[in-house]
Amino acid sequence: MSEIRDVIIIGSGPAGLTAAIYAARANLSPLVFEGPVPGGQLTITTEVENFPGFAHPIEGPDLMEAMRQQALNVGSEIRQDWVLSVDLSSRPFTLTTSASGTVQGRTLIIATGAEAKWLGLPSETALQNKGVSACATCDGFFFRGKDVAVLGGGDTAMEEAIYLTRMCNSVTVVHRRDTLRASKVMADRALANPKIRFVWNSVVDEILDPAEGKVTGLKVTDQTTGVQQTLPVQGVFVAIGHQPKTELFRGQLPMNEAGYLVTDGVKTEVPGCFAAGDVYDTTYRQAITAAGMGCMAAMEAMRLLEAEEGH
Ligand code: NAP
Repeated sequence: MSEIRDVIIIGSGPAGLTAAIYAARANLSPLVFEGPVPGGQLTITTEVENFPGFAHPIEGPDLMEAMRQQALNVGSEIRQDWVLSVDLSSRPFTLTTSASGTVQGRTLIIATGAEAKWLGLPSETALQNKGVSACATCDGFFFRGKDVAVLGGGDTAMEEAIYLTRMCNSVTVVHRRDTLRASKVMADRALANPKIRFVWNSVVDEILDPAEGKVTGLKVTDQTTGVQQTLPVQGVFVAIGHQPKTELFRGQLPMNEAGYLVTDGVKTEVPGCFAAGDVYDTTYRQAITAAGMGCMAAMEAMRLLEAEEGH
């Protein structure tokens, strides 16, 4: 007989841990599978200034450690284990993991998140959190009065560029083609903004300067002319899309073209299976919104179990 739990949560970012806190306080002894990036995307950021409850900035890893400890303190079990497969065809749902073997859950909360796509340049990796960011809402504040570049031509890039004009001196959007992928309304808004300039048909060769430990410029090449130039910027925001972590659910849950789960709020189309955070949210993508969705998913799981089993 495999272990059967009332609530299993996959993922340990703000969505997963908040779901765990709520489920644990409802006496449901949730089991959290931490996954390959314990703590999620906040563990690769530095100062977090927009999570309510902290008068002074808190380091992303510290915030996640506090959330993890809170989840443990109220009775969650957190396993450093990876889920290898999930069978949603019947309840209880069956999960196979690398260390725990087979585990079953009467309800399942998917909080596997998404990760920002990166260009993959060594200089980009070296300067992450030292001027290179994938989130203007999180880090834009640190670039007040500076000149920054935004990479990408989609809605996220336009949104980030427009947001950054509020605090930065100038914003240069570098896009690899000569037309934007962004929706017309977002593209028009960005194109009309006097603080935004566009560098078209250009790919990034290198972000300067890893030797100095900070961003001093961006080396780009125009694909049509072959001309290389260095843009003098102090910040680079990479906005070339996100990759949701949904491979486990392919063929079992509906997804959009980009691989995000398609849900009705926190409910998936499989009763008893819920989703929270960036795994389906392409709009807000904030720690606080993910946490809110985690709370909602846990409350839905509680209500379902209560209705079914008189918990
Ligand atoms: P996206 O639509 O996939 O756009 C990614 C952009 O990055 C594209 O312009 C792409 O260039 C470029 N890109 C991708 N890989 C690259 C690489 N290796 N090097 C250089 N450039 C690269 O992603 P997104 O902007 O994050 O949007 C994702 C989804 O969320 C979309 O459906 C979007 O509409 C939605 N969204 C909506 C809003 C809103 O409505 N306010 C805000 C944000 C996101 P190409 O164009 O050449 O492919």
